[in-house]
Amino acid sequence: MKFGGTSMAGTERIRRVANIVRAQAVGRNGEANEVAVVVSAMAGETDRLVNFCREANALYDPAEYDVVVSSGEQVTSGLLALTLQSLGHKARSWLGWQLPVKTEGAHAKARIASIDAPDMVARLEAGEIAVVPGFQGITDEGRISTLGRGGSDTSAVAVAAAVKADRCDIYTDVDGVYTTDPRIVAKARKLKAVTYEEMLELASVGAKVLQTRSVGLAMKAGVRIQVLSSFVDDGAALADDLPGTLIVSDEEMDQMVERGEMERQLVTGIAHDKNEAKVILTRVPDKPGAVAHIFEPLADASINVDMIIQNVGRDKGETDVTFTVPQADLARAQALLEDRREEIGFNRIITDSKIAKISVVGVGMKSHAGVASTMFRALSDRGINIQAISTSEIKVSVMIDEDETELAVRVLHTAYGLDAEE
Ligand code: ADP
Ligand code: ASP
Ligand code: MG
Repeated sequence: MKFGGTSMAGTERIRRVANIVRAQAVGRNGEANEVAVVVSAMAGETDRLVNFCREANALYDPAEYDVVVSSGEQVTSGLLALTLQSLGHKARSWLGWQLPVKTEGAHAKARIASIDAPDMVARLEAGEIAVVPGFQGITDEGRISTLGRGGSDTSAVAVAAAVKADRCDIYTDVDGVYTTDPRIVAKARKLKAVTYEEMLELASVGAKVLQTRSVGLAMKAGVRIQVLSSFVDDGAALADDLPGTLIVSDEEMDQMVERGEMERQLVTGIAHDKNEAKVILTRVPDKPGAVAHIFEPLADASINVDMIIQNVGRDKGETDVTFTVPQADLARAQALLEDRREEIGFNRIITDSKIAKISVVGVGMKSHAGVASTMFRALSDRGINIQAISTSEIKVSVMIDEDETELAVRVLHTAYGLDAEE
C-alpha cells in the first residue's frame, strides 16, 4: 500500500491512513494480510525542502540536496508506525538505508538497483506492518539518494516486487486514473483500467498520478497496480472491493473489452506538463557535429532533453536550435552552454519557462490516421498557437504558451469525445 502526500498531511490524515492499513492487515474472515506500506512526505513538505536548498546554494550539490529532501519521508514513516502502534498493531519503520534500497545513477534522480529485505520479510511474516519511507535509497558509496519527484510510487512498486506482493495499491487524493487531470476538466471520466503502455506514456508526458518509472518497473516486474483514493469514510470497503483504476496488460485489456467492461477509444487520455522550459540557441553553425556539441554536455550532466527542433539553415550556414529541459535543470543547462559558447559557436541563448506541453495518448493511434490533425484543428479553432510538435507511436505532443494550458486540455478533451455525459 502506498500513500501520497495529501493522504499523509497531518496527524488526522495519518490516523485515517492507519485505519485503512490496519483494516487491510486484519483482513476478512480471520484471513490476515501481510502489509508493507510506503509513504510520501506531507503535502508541500518536499517543495519546502527543495526551496531551502535553492536558498542555500542556487547551484546545489545533488548529494546534499538528497540529504535534505529525503527527510520529509523519514518523518511520516515514523509517525505512521507510531499511529499504528497506538491502534494496537505491531509496526516499525524501515528507512532506505536500513532496508536497504540500493540505488544507482545520479543523485536527485537515482534509480533503484535492488531491494534485498530478508529482515523486513521475516517481520512481515510475524505479523508486523512495515512502514517504508518512499523516495529514498542509498548509493554504493553509502550516501543517501532520492528517486526524483513523485518517486514514492516507484519505491512502492519496487517494494511490491521485492516481497512478491499480490498487488500494489497506490492511494492518492483522486479515486483513480482519469481521461485527464480531473482538477482541470470537471468532465474527465474515471477509467476502469489502463494498459501499462498507455499509463507509461501518460505519466511520462505529465499525468503525475503515477511516476513514470513506477509504471515501467511494474510492467517489467509484473506488479499489479491499483490506483485508489484514501479519502474514504472510516469503515469503508477494503481495497479489494473499491472501484479504483487497474493498470493491466494488453491481453487483460482485450479481455475486458470482449466482456464489454471497457470501450476501445482512439485517445485514452490527455496530459499536460508545465515543468519544462524552452531554450533557443541562435545562429548555431549548420554543420556536422554542431548539435552533438550542444547535447553532449547536457547528457553528461544527466539533464534530460525532450522536444528538439532544428530550423532549416538560413544564410551564412547558420541555424537556430530549440529544445526543452526540465525547469529544475534550466539554470544548470544554461551555465553549461554559456561555458561552451566558443566551442558550440552560438550567438544568443534565449530561455522561456512560460511554456506547457500538452499530449494526447492512445494505443488506437497505431492503426488510425488523423489523431494529430484533429489536435491541430481543435487548437487553432481556439486561436492557440503551437510552438513545437513531437510524436511517438502512441502520442502526439505540442508546446504552447503556459497561460493556455487549461483551455487547451479542455478543448482537446471535448474534441476526442472524452467528456463524461451530463
Ligand atoms: P500523491 O501525493 O498521492 O502522490 P500526486 O499529486 O502525485 O498525488 O498525484 C495525484 C494527482 O494527479 C491528482 O490530484 C490529479 O490532480 C493529478 N492527475 C493528473 N493527471 C491525472 C489523471 N489522468 N488522472 C487522475 N489524476 C491525475
Ligand atoms: N515527497 C516526494 C515528492 O514530493 C516523493 C513523493 O511524494 O512521491 O516528490
Ligand atoms: Mg505522486
